[in-house]
Amino acid sequence: MSILSKPYLHNEKAAFAFLESILWADGPECPHCGSVNHAGKLKGKSTRLGCWKCYDCRKQFTVKVGTVFEHGRMPLHKMLQAAFLMCGSKKGISAHQLHRTLEITYKSAWFLAHRIREAMREGTLPGGLGGQNKVVEVDETYVGGKAKNAKRGAPIPEKEPVISLVERDGRMRSFHVLSVNRDTLAPILRTQIDRKSYLMTDESRLYKGIGKEFAGHGSVNHSIDEYVRGNFWHTNTVEGYFSILKRGITGVYQHCSQQHLKRYLAEFDFRYNERKVTDSERTVKALEGIRGKRLTYHGSSMVA
Ligand SMILES: [Zn+2]
Repeated sequence: MSILSKPYLHNEKAAFAFLESILWADGPECPHCGSVNHAGKLKGKSTRLGCWKCYDCRKQFTVKVGTVFEHGRMPLHKMLQAAFLMCGSKKGISAHQLHRTLEITYKSAWFLAHRIREAMREGTLPGGLGGQNKVVEVDETYVGGKAKNAKRGAPIPEKEPVISLVERDGRMRSFHVLSVNRDTLAPILRTQIDRKSYLMTDESRLYKGIGKEFAGHGSVNHSIDEYVRGNFWHTNTVEGYFSILKRGITGVYQHCSQQHLKRYLAEFDFRYNERKVTDSERTVKALEGIRGKRLTYHGSSMVA
């Protein structure tokens, strides 16, 4: 059977049951009073699908309450379709494509995509990349700023700096910064990377001082074609990530404004970090993240 024929992608009842199985391992959880597995499913003809009544506080709820899906005004199975498409496409999928495929308005598609990006975002900034005998590659790049993406007559948007930290064979994390300098780099490296790590960067002077705070610091000179010195001295891992990010951002997300860049980074980071699992497993992982997030327009990964 094709993944596209799974009932939860077509049938609203199955969609609720699927999401409940992901978020409620121990039975229905009341978002009002916190009681677990002490609620009854409402089955009357006039009740909403997926509606439960808490036996403790007597209030009603569905599995969407308190998640980024709560206020989405479209069937849940379409939200699951969108989550599956975004988790399964390496470079992402545009709001225009979601609008056409899901037959929802462009505006709904745009908001839905941002809800799912929010679900993909790491809830708390955990730090702890790298460790003893681990190598963490750090590099910066600039995204956006393409003339063809500017509205008619509007100035060409400026390119936005992004710093990414990638633990070899491990996890990674990206940050949108206002500019790349010692003051923006140092706090990110200090809070995110274990000091016992070996730091690998380009030979920019920006990394010289902070590099001394780590177990070791290697640098690669890009200007003399020294891309790979042995198997160790390189930043190919982070550069590989940048190439996917850039193809995604310029090819798929044409109006990736500065305000929303951190959400796109969360999306690309998520797919990279979950690269070793199947598309379905990655989708489940994203859906686990719909809880405890609110769709706000300030975030933790924008560093002034
Ligand atoms: Zn309750």
